[in-house]
Amino acid sequence: SSESIKILFLENISEKAVEIVKNAGYQVESVSRSLNEEELIEKIKDVHGIGIRSKTRLNSRVLAAADNLQVIGCFCIGTNQVDLEYAASRGISVFNSPFSNSRSVAELIIAEIIMLSRKLGDRNNEMHAGEWNKVSKKCHEIRGKTVGIIGYGHIGTQLSVLAESMGMKVIWYDVLPLMPLGRSKSVGSLEELLVKADYVTLHVPETSETKNLIGEDEIRMMKKGACLLNASRGTVVDIKALAQALRNGHLAGAAVDVFPQEPFENGKFFESELAGCPNTILTPHIGGSTEEAQRMIGIEVASAIVGYMNTGASLNAVNFPEIDLKPGAVSDKHRLRIVNVHQNVPGVLQKINSILSKYNVDKQASDSRGEIAYYVADITLPDPEDINVIYAGISGITENIITRVLF
Ligand code: NAD
Repeated sequence: SSESIKILFLENISEKAVEIVKNAGYQVESVSRSLNEEELIEKIKDVHGIGIRSKTRLNSRVLAAADNLQVIGCFCIGTNQVDLEYAASRGISVFNSPFSNSRSVAELIIAEIIMLSRKLGDRNNEMHAGEWNKVSKKCHEIRGKTVGIIGYGHIGTQLSVLAESMGMKVIWYDVLPLMPLGRSKSVGSLEELLVKADYVTLHVPETSETKNLIGEDEIRMMKKGACLLNASRGTVVDIKALAQALRNGHLAGAAVDVFPQEPFENGKFFESELAGCPNTILTPHIGGSTEEAQRMIGIEVASAIVGYMNTGASLNAVNFPEIDLKPGAVSDKHRLRIVNVHQNVPGVLQKINSILSKYNVDKQASDSRGEIAYYVADITLPDPEDINVIYAGISGITENIITRVLF
């Protein structure tokens, strides 16, 4: 039952998230800090779910100590603090929240487009150093200018709408054929975008294709006096080529939020070839860092935890086969949902189906990923006692990792 489900939240996870899991009827223990390995091993023993942020390391030693763990919620974007493969091998699904901060990033880009076009970074630095330098030459309004968005996903589309409402023309380039929002136009190639845009802004993922997507040749194709903005990933822009184009005046400015090497903690040790370049705004990967985004992360990840525990839905899990079986509109009260994680080897589905062969399977789905496979089925039972028979049968197959009976 839901009251027997125990969730441990570490690292001060938002109140909103605590509220969501409490409303689901689970027991929640919330700790404001991260725990070290020994503390984790002790605490993780009997919990069914754990929520962490970036500082808690869930390595295989810690996860091996978790006897009941079924779900990990990373209340952040990154998931490399968790041994994802080991978690999957134990049937533990891991969720994160990659898109909760899209609006925050898009707003930062709007601010930076205006800052670059008015050279606010340089003026601000001069004033703080006691220098009065009133200029209008090469300062512009953004109305009527063209922003070129590379990558028209969650952030790119948010930005498209905001930029247009400020009177900008929007062109974009994406590898997928997507629906243009408002009056924005997609262009046929990256080159076309680079040639036409006054502001080029990057919103692509980090992949082998996007590594150095913007290098010396691409920068040369950009209009003289154009600006480049990167709040995607540090590997996407060749920093050396960018610094050179800023120093020789080909580009009028740049805003960079992400870097090829980023420090792991706050402190005075950041170095970049971009430091000291004219009209260049540098920020420490804060594109998504707002309280609103944190709250959205809380809602998204807590809902994923509850969804997985209550219905077995694993959609958008980062390490797990994805199934989201909608409950059917069957009114029979002896219906149950069985979820099973098993080793991804031949013959298992046949074993499961033969255990279920006497019953009416209303719906079933299975998916696999690497070494593990996931099976979900809704079954109508003539006799509720049969639940025990089915559970014993499926959890007893040799390839079984976790079997749960839900509603
Ligand atoms: P998304 O997956 O929703 O969108 C990315 C888009 O890029 C997709 O439409 C995809 O088809 C497209 N794409 C992929 N390869 C491409 C290529 N070679 N050329 C053109 N388009 C390509 O992602 P998102 O949520 O919009 O995030 C975009 C980037 O922003 C990610 O790299 C993410 O890590 C980064 N991000 C940074 C911050 C920050 O704090 N600065 C915050 C959130 C996200």
